[in-house]
Amino acid sequence: MIRIVVLGGGFAGMEVVQGLDRGLRGRDDVDVLLVSDRNYLLFTPLLPQVASSMVEPRHIIQPIRDIRGFSGRFRFRRDSVVGIDLMGRRVRLAEGDIEWDRLVLALGGVTPSFSVPGVDEHALPYKSLEDAMAMRDHLLDLAEHADHDHPGAPLRRPLTICVVGGGYTGVELIAELQDLFASYIVPRYRGIGPSDYRLLLIEAGREILHGVHPALAARARQKLWRDRIEVHTETRVTRVLAGAVETAGGARIPVSLTIWAAGVAGHPVLARLPVRKDRLNRLVVDHFMRLPDHPGVYGAGDAVVVSEMPSASVPIIPAALAHGRVVAENLIAELSGRPLKAIDFEPRGMLVSLGEKNAVIEVLGVRTSGVFAWLFWNALHLVKLVGVRKQIQVAADWSLAQLFPRDSAIMRRPTRCPICRNLARAPDAA
Ligand SMILES: Cc1cc2nc3c(=O)[nH]c(=O)nc-3n(C[C@H](O)[C@H](O)[C@H](O)COP(=O)(O)OP(=O)(O)OC[C@H]3O[C@@H](n4cnc5c(N)ncnc54)[C@H](O)[C@@H]3O)c2cc1C
Repeated sequence: MIRIVVLGGGFAGMEVVQGLDRGLRGRDDVDVLLVSDRNYLLFTPLLPQVASSMVEPRHIIQPIRDIRGFSGRFRFRRDSVVGIDLMGRRVRLAEGDIEWDRLVLALGGVTPSFSVPGVDEHALPYKSLEDAMAMRDHLLDLAEHADHDHPGAPLRRPLTICVVGGGYTGVELIAELQDLFASYIVPRYRGIGPSDYRLLLIEAGREILHGVHPALAARARQKLWRDRIEVHTETRVTRVLAGAVETAGGARIPVSLTIWAAGVAGHPVLARLPVRKDRLNRLVVDHFMRLPDHPGVYGAGDAVVVSEMPSASVPIIPAALAHGRVVAENLIAELSGRPLKAIDFEPRGMLVSLGEKNAVIEVLGVRTSGVFAWLFWNALHLVKLVGVRKQIQVAADWSLAQLFPRDSAIMRRPTRCPICRNLARAPDAA
């Protein structure tokens, strides 16, 4: 039996196992095992809308067993990868070791802190469903603490939310938070007026939305400016404190909450492997998505960069899917003695949501913004959601949001969260 082990049940890993399912029909001598620490696929484009209480968290995830359905043949094991022995062909999992004949590394990435002190202690991460849910609760909790319930009375605590990272994830998030404040918090929290909150977006580079056409990036910046979102470019955060961020040059900006959304780095388990990596610890794979010098080992998704092909190495879903397709095809080709296929991927467009009724998009060379772009963004993401049930649920969430207020019940237990404890210790003046 040939054992193929795929590590990571995200977009890349799922594309690999589904491709193998299709291509290995009739091959009883191959066993495919998918290992992932989550038993669902997370549709990340809708994470900002979970943070802003627009869609229900469960509506943007799809259980892996449901995606596999009755006809899928791959096996699934929910477990955590803690180490990989490339020479000994073993993977160390939290619940025991497994062996492989072919291995696919698709564990995704992490958000790098760039060694900035205080990020882990005082900033909220923004990567997983849990992060978005915790953020939603933090924001509502801050609003509850700030509100005096007397219009015109000074706020008990000022409300300043700072998102670090002006890539598309940071931009989409801050635009969504503006909607939350403008359309829900200000009308319903009587002590919080339109000028009682500040939203800051801090970006180290010269412009926000690096990689997006400059004209669209400029339109996005204008829209954020019209919404009173303060965008600070060429500003490097050098320290995160409880209640403030410090920037290069020593300026200290008081904030109520810092959200860290600054880029994508390699997975820590993969960073320990004695193989070539880029400066952000992502594994460098060749054009066939193989790990050089390690026959039978492939990589896909955010965990890797393709050697000398920056356009195929962008950390976005279409790239992860393209990697996954090529890996599946090459595994099948290898097992059948056929030549391997090289990756040929370039992003064909970019879609950035700017909150309700606005977006900037570039699709097949056509660039546009505004309501039409927003409708296109919505339609495309609805179609891309896995499973009709989830599509209906998200469409219902969007429709209901036009008729009813968002849900502002706070679900978490703040005392359990270290960031909450740090926030609670922050001085009131912060
Ligand atoms: C907030 C946010 C918004 C985004 N929005 C968009 C967007 O609008 N459009 C777009 O194209 N891209 C977007 N992206 C990027 C996109 O999500 C990634 O490019 C894509 O998910 C990469 O797929 P992947 O399979 O490589 O990694 P992932 O989807 O991250 O999957 C990795 C899998 O590995 C599992 N895993 C990790 N560590 C372990 C371990 N130790 N043991 C076992 N399993 C493990 C994880 O649980 C996960 O299931 C967004 C990302 C974020 C964070």
